[in-house]
Amino acid sequence: MMHVSENKCVGCGLCVDVCPQEGITLSKGVAQIEKDKCVECRSCLQECPQGAISFFENINLVVAFGTDDGNTLKSDNHVGMSKYFRLYRFSDGQEDFTEQRKIIKYKEDATKTHGDPGKAKATASALENVDILVGQMFGPNITRLRNKFVCAVVRKNTIDDAIQTVRKNINEIIEEKDKKDRRGIVLN
Ligand code: SF4
Ligand code: SF4
Repeated sequence: MMHVSENKCVGCGLCVDVCPQEGITLSKGVAQIEKDKCVECRSCLQECPQGAISFFENINLVVAFGTDDGNTLKSDNHVGMSKYFRLYRFSDGQEDFTEQRKIIKYKEDATKTHGDPGKAKATASALENVDILVGQMFGPNITRLRNKFVCAVVRKNTIDDAIQTVRKNINEIIEEKDKKDRRGIVLN
């Protein structure tokens, strides 16, 4: 499946011209690939001077959103201090809520500092099988957590808006996930 990164595309239209299926249009200055027409020849990927087009076999990612109330992203503290994590499965073109998880160990222990390795371990263990952790704020433990999953800073109020931001940046997330030396990433 072909994907265009909205953040990288500059709307030059070179991919539109090269597509043998007439499967690419420009909308608001960003290339849009029509899935029904695309035969995955990858000509557009090779043509794009911005590296804005990627090919992925299938998207299948589990994304966790830190929240206290189930609707908004935690904003008054680090994501690891969230009451719950709402997990969504991102596949080609859709996001499905799958489950809600909670960190029990360490969360209420005031003697543990934000960068305490035990806290990172508890978060990582609660978020087993998660590919991406999304929060408004990360603490010093991001250096440990990013080895377990992609740590993405998204400064959106609601989980619904954060889901849209993740979807928009899915190319960058997948690229980051495949890196050996991951960094925390900020998504707009
Ligand atoms: S060639 Fe690349 S930068 Fe140009 S419109 Fe297509 S995707 Fe965007
Ligand atoms: S992969 Fe080929 S068919 Fe699909 S949008 Fe790109 S150029 Fe068109």
